[in-house]
Amino acid sequence: MTRTCCGVYHDPLPSSCPAMASSAVADELSSLLTTLLPVVVEHVRGATAHGDTIAPTIGPAQTPAELTELLAPVSPSTGLGVEGVVREFKLILANSVNTWHPGFLDKLYALTNPVGVALELLLAVLNTNVHVYTVLPALLVVETHVAQAYARVFGMHGAHAGGLTFPGGLYANLTALHMARVLHDQTVRTGGNQGRYCIVCSEHAHYSVEQAAILMGLGKEGVVRVAVDAAGSMDLADLERKVVGAVAAGLEPIAVVATAGTTVYGAFDNLAGVRACCTKHRIWMHVDGLWGGNMVWSAAHQHKLAGAELADLVTLNPHKMLGVPTTCLFLLVPDRRVLPALNSLLAGYLFHGEDYDLADGTLACGRRGDSVKMYLAWVCYGNAGFAARVDQAYASAVHLADLVRGKSTFLLVGPYPPPCLQVCFYHQPDGEFGAAERNLATTRRIAKQLHALGKFLVDYAVGPHGEFFRVVVNSPFVDRQVVSQLVAAIEHAGASVQA
Ligand SMILES: *Cc1c(COP(=O)(O)O)cnc(C)c1O
Repeated sequence: MTRTCCGVYHDPLPSSCPAMASSAVADELSSLLTTLLPVVVEHVRGATAHGDTIAPTIGPAQTPAELTELLAPVSPSTGLGVEGVVREFKLILANSVNTWHPGFLDKLYALTNPVGVALELLLAVLNTNVHVYTVLPALLVVETHVAQAYARVFGMHGAHAGGLTFPGGLYANLTALHMARVLHDQTVRTGGNQGRYCIVCSEHAHYSVEQAAILMGLGKEGVVRVAVDAAGSMDLADLERKVVGAVAAGLEPIAVVATAGTTVYGAFDNLAGVRACCTKHRIWMHVDGLWGGNMVWSAAHQHKLAGAELADLVTLNPHKMLGVPTTCLFLLVPDRRVLPALNSLLAGYLFHGEDYDLADGTLACGRRGDSVKMYLAWVCYGNAGFAARVDQAYASAVHLADLVRGKSTFLLVGPYPPPCLQVCFYHQPDGEFGAAERNLATTRRIAKQLHALGKFLVDYAVGPHGEFFRVVVNSPFVDRQVVSQLVAAIEHAGASVQA
C-alpha cells in the first residue's frame, strides 16, 4: 500500500498526499490495527511477564537530546505515510516509561487495563464531541447516569445529584471554585471580582488550587493557607482562626477546599469538621478528592471520607486509583442543575435548550467522552472489583511501610499506618538523617540509579529534612514481593552512591 493519509497538507496538495478513496478507509484501518496489535500486546507482555525477579523493562532513561535524535523530522517535505507512522509508533513505545511495569511507583496513576485500552479505541473511532445531545446521544446519557451513580457512592442521594467530567485536575478544581464564587455572588459573571475574594485550603493542598486562584484573578495571595497537624490534616482550630482573620482583613472567603488524600502524604482533612466551619461562616465547601477520594470504595477506609456527602462540590479522579485510562475526572454536586445555571452563556448557535447538552454546564465547548471509561470499568469490575483493587494496594503500601520501619537505615516520614497509598521515607546507608543537603543528594542519586537499572521508577518530594522518597503503591501488580524487591534495590543502590 503506497497511499498516505497523514502529514502536513500544503497548498496545493502535494501529489504524495492524494485524497483517499472513501471505500479504502476501512481497509487501511484494518491493516493498521492488525500491524500494531502485536506491538501493543508485546509492550504489555514485556512489562508484566516476570518470574521471581522483576524484569529490567521499565523503559530507558534518556535525555531530551537523545530522544530528539531518535525522532523523525517534524516537517518532511513528503509525508512518510502509514509505514512512517508504524515506525514512529514502535519507536515511541520502545522509548517510553512502561506504566504496566510493576516497578512504576512514581506517580499517583499507573497502568490502565485491557478494558481501558479498548475503551480508548471506542472514543477514537467515535471521534466526536460530548457537547450536545444531537452528536453523541449515547455518551451524554452515560455521563449523566454514571455521575449520578458516582455521587450516590459519596452519599449524595438527592434526585438531581450528579456531575460532569473534566479534562484535568486543574479544570475540575477551577470549575468548582469558579462555581463557588458565583454562588457567593451572582454578579461576578457580569461585573467581575468586585469583592476581595479568597479561597481557604491547607498548606498541603494541591497546587491546582493556587493556579485556579491565579486564573480567577484572586492571585496567589488570594489563597489563605491553613496549618496542618502532625498527620498532615488541616488543623481545624487554625481553619477557624484563618477564616475569622480573613474576614477581619476585609476578604470574603468563597470556598474552603478540603483535601481527601493529599498529594505527597495522602492525608485526609476532617471533612465533617470543615463542614461545620463552612456552615457556621456560610462558606461553600469543596472537597478535592482527586487522589484519595476513591478510597471510598473500600469498606475499611471509607470512614476517611465521612462528611463528603455534605460537601457542595467534590472532584474525583478515577484515572488515578482505579486504573481508568487518563484522563477521567468528575466534578460532583448535590444538584447537577447548578452546573448550567452557573456556567451557561446561552450560546444559541450550539445549545438549543436540550436537557442533555452537557457542555453548557462547563466552561468548555469541546469535550471528550471520558465518562464512558469510568462507566465500563464499573460495569466490568463492579463495586467489589474497585474495593478489592484499593484494599490490595493498601495492603502492599502497609507492607512497604513495615519494611521501612523495621530498618535503622530507613526513616518513615508521615503517619503510620499510611493514610492512603503512598509511603514516604528517607534512606541513608549509615542511618544518619540529620543533614538535609545530604539526604537530598542520596535520594536523587538512588532514584536515578534505580531508573537506569530499568526496574523501578520512584519519585521524591521535599520534606522536613531534605528530599525523601514518595513511593506510590497503586498498580494491582505491586504485591509484597515487589515492594520487598524495591527496598533491597534501594539498599543496593544506596551502598554504591554513598558520598
Ligand atoms: C493529582 C491531584 C490533582 C490534579 O489531578 P490531575 O488529574 O493530575 O490533573 C489535584 N488534587 C490532588 C489532591 C491531586 O493529588
